[in-house]
Order: sequence, then structure tokens, then C-alpha cells
Amino acid sequence: MTTPIVVGNWKMNTTADQARQLAEQICSQVTERALDTRTTVVLCPPFVNLSAVGEVIEDRPIALGAQNCWSEPYGAFTGEISAAMLRAVGCRYVIVGHSERRTIFREDDQLIVRKLERVWEEKLVPILCIGETLAERQLHQTWDVLSRQLALVSAHSSRTRAWICAYEPVWAIGTGIAATAEEIEQAHAYLRSFLDAHGCHHVPLLYGGSVTEENAASIAAIAHVDGVLVGGASLVAERFLRIIQAQANA
Ligand code: PEP
Repeated sequence: MTTPIVVGNWKMNTTADQARQLAEQICSQVTERALDTRTTVVLCPPFVNLSAVGEVIEDRPIALGAQNCWSEPYGAFTGEISAAMLRAVGCRYVIVGHSERRTIFREDDQLIVRKLERVWEEKLVPILCIGETLAERQLHQTWDVLSRQLALVSAHSSRTRAWICAYEPVWAIGTGIAATAEEIEQAHAYLRSFLDAHGCHHVPLLYGGSVTEENAASIAAIAHVDGVLVGGASLVAERFLRIIQAQANA
């Protein structure tokens, strides 16, 4: 583990002007507060704002990421975006398998693995999201679900393939109800040992799900939390900066 990773997933929010402004505020403060040497910050705006944000963060210590990509390299896939296009626009990271993609757009593990292959082909770093639903947790299926979601991926992973794993319990995303410290600790301990047992010692493990400036410090202090994936709170510069600060101080 090098520096903690903080990813801002802006989802379907911001126009180009708003995206530029938000990126500018985050960038200037990250540098001014000397957070760049102690954290890796990744901004994931909507596809159409990648260029605008890319221009703002060029030559600055913040990386560009996309929220998704398609599983084929090019062709007749109306409305889709390829990993090569993302690389060309300056992305270094791509979120893959976010729970909103899995539930609203019915993405399954097989499709997600094909996307990962494409992202790796383009030498980008996938941020793979995994997590159980509330029903699965209540039925005591959490470990089975996480193992299933990871097993396919770790079979395709290798020491030379960089990727990041984000544990995001579905019931905690956008609900304002983050997992408790105990729940995060248990899940991360389980996932860390799963990853290590499958030769993925090099894979950082992030937590995501209602991370705020209030709970950021306590989450940052939990064992095996190598950073956070932030949705709602990443849309307000000062809130996001406080979350970055908490990771930098951990
Ligand atoms: C997310 O989008 O992955 C997320 C964790 O959202 P939020 O922080 O709003 O729960």
C-alpha cells in the first residue's frame, strides 16, 4: 500500500462548466493543503465532461477516471464508449461494475470481466466495485456474494495487472447509511485475505457507501481500508477535500 486513494464518482451530475469549476476548486485546494503527496485523488466526471476536467487537471497531481466503459474495442454499439477512447481523452482509471450498473443496467459478472479485460488491454486501471444487497446481507449471504463477485476477477488478474477493489455494500450507496466500523472491518478483513490468497496482494481495497466528511476519519482508521470511493459528497469541493484530508491524516 502506498498512499490512500480517494475516488470521486460524480455520477450523472454536472454540466461542463460546473465540472470545470468543481475540478478547479478541488485541484487548487489539494495542492494548497499539500494533500497531493499524501493521497492519490481520482475524479470521475460524466463521459461528456472528461475533456473539460482533463484540461483543468493537466499537469496537476490529480488523475482522471471514467465511470464505465463498454466491453468491446469498437464497432456498432450505439451510445457506448470504449476503453481506448477513455485512454485517448486522458483517463487512467475506469470504474467497472458499480452497483448502479449491475442493478439498473443489469450488468452481470461475465460482462464485467469482459470489460476488465478491455480496460487492462488499454493499460488503464479498473476500479472494480463489489458488494451485497440488503436482502443478501439479511440472508447471511454476504461472504458468498463477495467471493462470487471476486472469484471471476481474481482468476483473470495477475501480478502485472493493476486494479483496485472497492467494497460498496449496495444498501449503503446514496442512502446516507454508511456501514458501521465493525461491518467495514469484517468485510475488509475477509476481502483482504481472499485477495491475498488469490495472488492479489497488490490490489488496494477501498470502502464506498455514504462516506461523508463526518465519518471519513473513522473509516480511514479501519484496518485494510486503503482509501474511499465517494459519490454524493464528492460533488461539493469542501466536503470532498475534508474526506481527502482524513485519508491523508490516517
Ligand atoms: C458511489 O457512487 O459509489 C457511492 C458510494 O455513492 P455515495 O457516496 O453517494 O453513497
